[in-house]
Amino acid sequence: MSLPQKVDVLVIGGGPAGSMAATALAQKGIDVALIDKQHHPRETVGESILPSAWKYFDLLGVSEAVAKNFVRKAGGVVVWGDQISEIAFKDFGYTRPGMHVERDEFDDLLLRNAAAKGVGVFEGYRAEAFTPGDNPVVTVVDEAGQRREIACRQFIDTTGQAALVGRQLGGRRLNADFRFVALWGYFENSRYFSAGGVARDFGEIPQHPPLTFVTRLGGWGWSWHIPMKKVTSVGLVIPVEDYKREFAEHPSLDAYFLSRCRATPHLGRLLANAHMVNGGTRMMRDFSYGCDHISGPGFLVAGDAAGFIDPIFSIGVVFALYAGNLAAWATQRILANPAQAANTRLVFETQLKGRAELAYALALPGVERDATTAARQSFDYFSQAEKELTWSAASMTTRSQNVVRAAGGAEGAAGIRRRDLATLRYA
Ligand SMILES: Cc1cc2nc3c(=O)[nH]c(=O)nc-3n(C[C@H](O)[C@H](O)[C@H](O)COP(=O)(O)OP(=O)(O)OC[C@H]3O[C@@H](n4cnc5c(N)ncnc54)[C@H](O)[C@@H]3O)c2cc1C
Repeated sequence: MSLPQKVDVLVIGGGPAGSMAATALAQKGIDVALIDKQHHPRETVGESILPSAWKYFDLLGVSEAVAKNFVRKAGGVVVWGDQISEIAFKDFGYTRPGMHVERDEFDDLLLRNAAAKGVGVFEGYRAEAFTPGDNPVVTVVDEAGQRREIACRQFIDTTGQAALVGRQLGGRRLNADFRFVALWGYFENSRYFSAGGVARDFGEIPQHPPLTFVTRLGGWGWSWHIPMKKVTSVGLVIPVEDYKREFAEHPSLDAYFLSRCRATPHLGRLLANAHMVNGGTRMMRDFSYGCDHISGPGFLVAGDAAGFIDPIFSIGVVFALYAGNLAAWATQRILANPAQAANTRLVFETQLKGRAELAYALALPGVERDATTAARQSFDYFSQAEKELTWSAASMTTRSQNVVRAAGGAEGAAGIRRRDLATLRYA
């Protein structure tokens, strides 16, 4: 199959947002091509998936494959100062678990599924620029450096943090409230926590599903611990200023990362007999930003390309799937009724911004600011299970008091299904 010169819809980026958008359009019989600058499977971070993802897996027709190929998680356990708390998804009425996924494999599964459902998938092609307006043209560069043009009726930017539209049109703004550095790596033989805060050996995962383990680091930083099929993903999210000061005292990034992991209560204990594999420490900074342009004549933007907030509540992939699905709905409407395109874009933007505001309110570190009306309205659209889960997760840290307030304040707190643990239990 060769790269088309013309297509009805071009999706740029083959992460969860792009695969969701492209597959949903192909399922409606629309002519759609997807390009990605990389070849999948490709490494990316973000391995903890919430159970609300299942509705999108069902739509895509991948639920069976996801259930078969990845580790099921039962919920989360959080150590935040002196408070240790746990939530279990089943307590909120979820009949299916969350998942811990190797993102290279998971994203590849969604992309191959897109191809099987009729999307023309082209890897190794990077979108360089576009001409906005009705019937846009996207300039694409192949791996030999050759440029070609693809004409389309609409394109969807799902380029993740690369944010094609945000960078070309300007208005990709770093978020001053979230100046963090993320460091992460992969470990063999880490212990993990299962239901009830019980520490277990890695080999017990099939019998005792893991919890995602999060702990507070200093003021506003935090760590993650996500056991997968063969390795455990461990990450630290550290305020930029702390990182600069502390890193200067270490000979290398690996030395800093490992010493910080080992010095973190509980995390260090889980890693006591573990060793880092798959290369060294990964690093990313300034990953929280917003974009002014998330739609315009000829295009929509979805997933991280539209903006991203600190990942403490593991909502990135679900949000990307939601946004991809919403972008497919809006694109289909625009193609069917171009005269109403501006209206459709307004609905798309309002929905997406409300969700983004809610994500912002959830993760807001250190700033006492009430959740916006858009965030409150977005919260109201959630199912009861999603509402209660979000609310309970919010109450496990001091990061999101504004969401606790938006959800009904102390009065409604009776609905919270969090379990406080006296201590974590090590055999
Ligand atoms: C430190 C950290 C930890 C995280 N942890 C979690 C977590 O535990 N759970 C969770 O749900 N989320 C997590 N996230 C967020 C999650 O990883 C993202 O929200 C999710 O991957 C977004 O999906 P996407 O499809 O928008 O973008 P991506 O998955 O980034 O995909 C974008 C794709 O676009 C391609 N691309 C980029 N530029 C171009 C171009 N110019 N032309 C063609 N192709 C292009 C890339 O190759 C890539 O394949 C985390 C994020 C960070 C930073």
